[in-house]
This record gives sequence, C-alpha cells and structure tokens, in this order.
Amino acid sequence: MNRKNRDQRVTPRILCFFLGIVLSWVIPLPSAEARDLIRVLILRDIPSVKVASEGLNLYDLKSGQSFFKNRKYTSLVFEREAGARVRLRGQTLSAPGFLVESAGPPLLINGRSYRDQVRILPGPNRDLWLINVLPLEEYLVGLINFEIFSQWPIEAVKAQAIAARTYAFYQRGNRSGEPYDVDSGVSDQVYGGTGKEDARSRRAVDETRGELLLYQGSPIFSVYSACCGGKTEAGEFMWSGVFPYLRSMECAYCLDSPHFLWNYSIDGERLASALGSGAVSGPRVLGLEIEERSPSRRVLRLLIQSEKTRRLIPGKDFRRLLGYDQLRSTNFILTEKEGVFQFSGLGWGHGVGFCQWGARGMADAGMDYRTILKSYYQDVEIGKIQR
Ligand SMILES: [Zn+2]
Repeated sequence: MNRKNRDQRVTPRILCFFLGIVLSWVIPLPSAEARDLIRVLILRDIPSVKVASEGLNLYDLKSGQSFFKNRKYTSLVFEREAGARVRLRGQTLSAPGFLVESAGPPLLINGRSYRDQVRILPGPNRDLWLINVLPLEEYLVGLINFEIFSQWPIEAVKAQAIAARTYAFYQRGNRSGEPYDVDSGVSDQVYGGTGKEDARSRRAVDETRGELLLYQGSPIFSVYSACCGGKTEAGEFMWSGVFPYLRSMECAYCLDSPHFLWNYSIDGERLASALGSGAVSGPRVLGLEIEERSPSRRVLRLLIQSEKTRRLIPGKDFRRLLGYDQLRSTNFILTEKEGVFQFSGLGWGHGVGFCQWGARGMADAGMDYRTILKSYYQDVEIGKIQR
C-alpha cells in the first residue's frame, strides 16, 4: 500500500457517513476474561476477511464506540493495511481493532457460522487475526464433531466434552495476558464454528456441564489424541514440565481404530525439501537413523545424514515438518530402499492423555465417562470448581 492510501484514514463518524449510518454511542464491552467466556483464535495469516449477517453491529474494540449498525443483511470485507491498520470498503480505519456481533442470526465469517462476537485485529505479519468470543459451554457444543463423532457411544462423547472443557480452562488460565485463550487448529483444539452442532453434542455437554478434570484441585493439561496405538505417551516427552497425571499406560481399546496402523514413504529429495535447510545441507537426505526412543517406543531423536552434515532433530519436530497427517505419530520403524524412506507406525497423534478411539472402545465395553477419563489421566478427580 502506498503512502497516499495509507494516510486515508477515516474517523468513526466519517465512516458512519460513508456507510449511511449515524451512530456514535458508547456501549460497555463484555469482559472476555469473564470465566464463562472463551476467546478462540479462528483465523490468522489472512490478508482479508468477509463478515456477514443480519443485524450486524460493529464497534471500536478499544473504546467500545459503535460506528456501524444495520438490521438488514450486510456483508463487510476487512483488509489488512500497512502500519497495523485495517481497511473496510477501501477506507483505512483509525481504530486499532474491531468487535463485530450480530443481533440476529450467527455471524458468517468467510462463509462459516460463528456465535456471538468476533474480534478483528491486525496481526504481526501484516495479516488479520479473528477471535471468536463466546460462552465456553457453547464452544464445546460446536467443538465435539470437529474432534470426535457425536454419534459414538455417549459416554465417550461425554468424556471428550470434559477433556476439551478442562483443556480450555487450563489454557485460559495460562494465556490471560494474550489476545486469545485457545487456537482453533490442531495445536490446541479444532473448532470450526456452529456448523457441526447437533443434539448429541449438546447432550454430552449439558450432562457434564461445568465438570473438569482436577489434580490437587486445579484443572489439568488435559491433552488428547485420536489413537495412541496401544500405549499412551508420558507428557514429559512431549512438553517441558511436570505432569504427574500424564503417565504412559497400556491401551487395549483402540486396536479396532482405522488409524491403528499406518505407512508413509518419501524419497530423499522431498524429505530434504520438507525438513528445510536448517536440518539438511544439499539437495537430498542420504540417510536417517533413529537415535533415541522413549519407554513407549516413540522416537525422541533422529540423525539426518546429508551431503555435508549430520544433524540431530527431535522426533516431534521431524513429524511437524513432514506434516501431522503424513507422519501420523512418532511411534514408527524406519527402512530405506533405493533412496526412499519407508515409515510404518502405530496410532495417530502425540499419544499423550486421552485416546479418542480407545474411549470409544471403552464405552462400547460398557464403561462410563468417569472410568474412561480416570484410565487415561492418573490420580485425577472429576468435579466443578467455584466460580
Ligand atoms: Zn489407545
């Protein structure tokens, strides 16, 4: 963006005129840190976003001043501008961030439906960040079918609801000084709005309302993964810290998962490209060796041989660089033939904590959600904490 356009900032009042709307009162913004709300980062690294709904209201996030309101269906396109500014309909706005809410139907964000409020902020990489602020329990109803299947046995779905609720609580406590509590991607918990809500996901949330996994009275770091491959991993091998409730355990209930066994192969050139110059010198990986495994047999470190260097890489970094959907776990054996590396592994995900497919197997065997959760998280209580 050139200087001329960058300087074309408009005040809220000018924008009201521009939009044909005359509003300038100040409303009190809800406290997102109130304990029944969760701030979910739903989009980042995007240059623009389309927000639409009936009854759209737009506020300056900092002052709370309203400068747009329309009862009819409205579609607004926000674009990132240079200098930590945002453009709306071609005009640079003076506010540093925005709050959008709908007085009627849910908000449509790039075509996906979201509840309540969305904050639009300039991100650090000349991008936009969108943060959905909504009641924690409603977030869980939407999340269930992005993380598990609500049609699975209800005790497994209820266990998922509690694991997800506790995880959100834990991260909200950690990130109170940051603009969001949880990411909507696989790095935290997958959430894609209201589009997959159904009666069974709501039932699982309602029947466990407020229940948390507690260790010595505090919500735990209740991580989970799709399939542990027969043995869960201890938390200390994935994250720095002490997690006495995330110990490795045998899991006999995920054997029927379609993700129990997997194979993946990649040639030395594509592997070098995926790992990048920080790990590989030259055009291809010539050799790979497993240097260290955890007691659950997951790969902790690999040695990468390329033309000029031999470098060690942590197993979890190796998996991230190859892609979580390609190298499905770090519990693998490795062979090489004619420059192609073949991985054969067990499970899908980091394998720490709650095993979703194992929970399904346990529920099929007649176990309730309390029994399921206490199998995967050791020495925990399930209860509510005072608000
Ligand atoms: Zn399992």
